[in-house]
Amino acid sequence: MMRIEIPKEVQIILKTLSRAGCEAYIVGGCTRDSILGRTPKDWDVTTSAMPEQVKALFARTIDTGIKHGTVTVMIGTEGYEVTTFRVDGEYEDGRHPRNVTFTRSLEEDLKRRDFTINAMAYNPETGLVDLFGGVEDLKAGMIRCVGDPHARFSEDALRVMRAVRFAAQLGFSIEEKTAQAVRDLAETLNRISAERIRMELEKLLLSPEPDRIETAYDLGITRVVLPEYDALSDREAKTGTYPCARLHTAALIRCAAPSRPQRFAALLSYAGPEMAGKVMRRLKFDNTTRILTERLVRFQDFSFENTPAAMRRFLYEAGEDLFPQLVRLREAQIAAKACGDSSAAWEDLKQKEMLFREVTESGQCFSFDRLQVKGDDLIAAGVRPGREMGNLLHSLLEAVIDDPGLNQKEMLIRMALEKQQQNGHT
Ligand code: ATP
Ligand code: MG
Repeated sequence: MMRIEIPKEVQIILKTLSRAGCEAYIVGGCTRDSILGRTPKDWDVTTSAMPEQVKALFARTIDTGIKHGTVTVMIGTEGYEVTTFRVDGEYEDGRHPRNVTFTRSLEEDLKRRDFTINAMAYNPETGLVDLFGGVEDLKAGMIRCVGDPHARFSEDALRVMRAVRFAAQLGFSIEEKTAQAVRDLAETLNRISAERIRMELEKLLLSPEPDRIETAYDLGITRVVLPEYDALSDREAKTGTYPCARLHTAALIRCAAPSRPQRFAALLSYAGPEMAGKVMRRLKFDNTTRILTERLVRFQDFSFENTPAAMRRFLYEAGEDLFPQLVRLREAQIAAKACGDSSAAWEDLKQKEMLFREVTESGQCFSFDRLQVKGDDLIAAGVRPGREMGNLLHSLLEAVIDDPGLNQKEMLIRMALEKQQQNGHT
């Protein structure tokens, strides 16, 4: 009998439920990952107990999704989702189930799940419950729908993206009938909310095989959720190594570091900052990720000469915090070109990194917080506050970026007063 190592806390939950005469199993991702020898992210429990009964059996619970039968059981500081066996009701427009019905049958609960590898349950007494050949598909590396793929994708269109996402996360292929149903029903993704699509896209791009975005393309998914990607097929690649911009982009994504800004900047590197921002807004990204990604796209081609002055000017425009991120993106770009002699590009990057350290560590000025004069100093010296002063500070900063020797308080105040006089103010 297959044995799965279960954390103590989860064992307590299973035991408590079974002593109360209920069935309880770990289910879904944690069962799948355990069989694969991977460490599960979280442990979900499915049970025949009704939500009220679950709440009565445990000291601390949270009603996370009580309508859908989910109660979070707190053990120590960790929470575990315990969900009552359920059958999803009718699906409205391929979105969330309109209603759910609780059931006493584990089989019914497993049947509503998306893929065979996600539809296995386990507890130490019963062992593994694998009704649809999940283990076999895990061994074969196969994503296969539970039951009829067309029917399953019609219930919830997001599943077509989940198929590709799991393929990318696990390095699996998509079984042919399932793949065909994805092709046939990819269009229905237009009924799914941007948030749900974004979450799948993120998981796909942050997976070990993010270039499986090409699978999403082949199956007609990007055409619906990311037409900008498909449009790259008609654009020439910036480097001769690739037949089109789309395939170059896929390679860039694969080489990019696994963070959202890096992978999405790679995805949108041909789009330019405005279009990148537009796409990310449409996908309802948080502002922080969107803005960082836009900045990466905007400054990705940093090709100034390797002098301290040029570095200071660049840091003034791009922002000091962006530089290390740009270096990582550049590393991906160089790696993705994978042609002929990239050693010059590596050498240039190394020089820029050294220059960055030199300029920042020696306290050279390229931003207002490094400027030796503040607005208050100018006011004290008799400069009127307002737009005029903003302009003055800007011109002082520009002067200091070009000539660091000028970054001294007295000197800057004198310069400010002179400039003000030139502008006809006293
Ligand atoms: P991970 O959490 O690692 O991304 P997971 O398999 O745990 O993967 P979840 O989205 O957390 O995926 O869902 C938990 C389980 O619920 C899945 O394994 C699957 O059995 C079921 N499930 C989740 N979403 C769907 C869906 N849209 N359609 C059908 N079943 C689903
Ligand atoms: Mg999960």
